[in-house]
Amino acid sequence: MTRTPLSTSLDSYEVWFVTGSQNLYGEETLRQVAEQSQQVVAGLESLPVNVVWKPVLKDSDSIRKLALEVNARDDVIGVIAWMHTFSPAKMWIAGLDALQKPLLHLHTQANVELPWADIDFDFMNLNQAAHGDREFGYIQTRLGVARKTVVGHVSNPSVRQQVEDWQRAAAGWTAARTLKLARFGDNMRYVAVTEGDKTEAELRFGVQVNTWGVNELVEAVDAASDAEIDALVAVYLESYDVVPELLPGGERHQSLRDGAAIELGLRSFLEEGGFGAFTTSFEDLGALKQLPGLAVQRLMADGYGFGAEGDWKTAILVRVANVMGAGLPGGASLMEDYTYDLVPGSERILGAHMLEVSPSLTTAKPRLEVHALGIGGKDDPVRLVFTADPGPALVVAMSDMRDRFRLVANVVENVDAPDLPKLPVGRAVWEPAPDFATSAACWLAAGAAHHTVMTTAVGIDVFRDFAEIAKTELVVIDEDTTVRGFQRELRWNQAYYRLAQGL
Ligand code: MN
Repeated sequence: MTRTPLSTSLDSYEVWFVTGSQNLYGEETLRQVAEQSQQVVAGLESLPVNVVWKPVLKDSDSIRKLALEVNARDDVIGVIAWMHTFSPAKMWIAGLDALQKPLLHLHTQANVELPWADIDFDFMNLNQAAHGDREFGYIQTRLGVARKTVVGHVSNPSVRQQVEDWQRAAAGWTAARTLKLARFGDNMRYVAVTEGDKTEAELRFGVQVNTWGVNELVEAVDAASDAEIDALVAVYLESYDVVPELLPGGERHQSLRDGAAIELGLRSFLEEGGFGAFTTSFEDLGALKQLPGLAVQRLMADGYGFGAEGDWKTAILVRVANVMGAGLPGGASLMEDYTYDLVPGSERILGAHMLEVSPSLTTAKPRLEVHALGIGGKDDPVRLVFTADPGPALVVAMSDMRDRFRLVANVVENVDAPDLPKLPVGRAVWEPAPDFATSAACWLAAGAAHHTVMTTAVGIDVFRDFAEIAKTELVVIDEDTTVRGFQRELRWNQAYYRLAQGL
């Protein structure tokens, strides 16, 4: 079988930079348009996704052909458009109608300052994005084209950051469009919020969600050789503080070897099937010796999406967040709001899961331990134990509202946790914005899930761009949120998203 290692890198991606104009201006002006648009592209050189300059577009047919080429190229994840001169927008109708990739409208100009003393009408002819881009804005709005609009000169770091956020969202979208998700077993019995319409998910996000019997995974685990297990155990010893009982010669070393075999089997199954995300279910472990803990934690840290208890929707979010955060400090993980510290004025949320929290949330060396697990009825599972680093974070949940998917995000701050000597799992402790009571009331009002992706690599702006590209509802709880305002937004959204679907 061919094995395809999962890629979470942005290096192979491009976005194309297109400049609109028309033939009216003559050769000299069009030469300057080309030259100056190349300077704008040069100003975007530091971004994580390579921006590729394309020859200036001057007529409807070349615009349409460019859109079709973008659609056909898997490595081209979006288009940045700028109307340096005036580009009559009817020539953009066919192209914008055909374009199926994310679009960013960069409302910029070549110069920062106006050279007041030298301005003649040649200058005015060349530098007219102030109304060229307004013509372009009109046709995008008239056609209902989803896009991000960024305003300002590329020498401004805030402008480049906004373009970078969009690039990361476009990469997350591309990852979703090509994502294959393997479910081992079904959802945890009787749970509502982890259910959802898998056919609709494939249409909306492009994700293929399908189920395999867990014993197919068991076969892959059984196929792991002693030599492979030895090699992986050596990696564990190098990477983590391994408790003595799990060390070679220790009385529970076999538990670590069983955990390594589960990781080897999972990896080979996922790589052979080309999967980028997966779910497990503690109610359906077949002949697996342990609930996969360590293996799942390490796979999430390598970029895989994961959801526990069959939660494929959260698995999608973990994969997308891993791609959007590629190359940045921090990481993304399955998270679950578990229990509260309700001391007035310093309320905190302790989040964790049975085992499956990604060590990408910490820069410390995790401890590798083994403990009994009351749920699942299997051998004691090995797991990494750590606390997420303090700092800004975001939690995002996806709910199936029957007629659409809803994303709910909360901006939070991970804080230093007190010692938790008796809690042998990966965890995070956070304070939600704007305050605990508002956050929780809004979360409950939105019907948001108890499972989330926690990302410490990307912020809310990237998720906003992702939701815009995905044409999916996103409601945000942040420092500006009030319960009454949030409830109003939910009601308005209810109407808007139903109307937007048409009849
Ligand atoms: Mn759970």
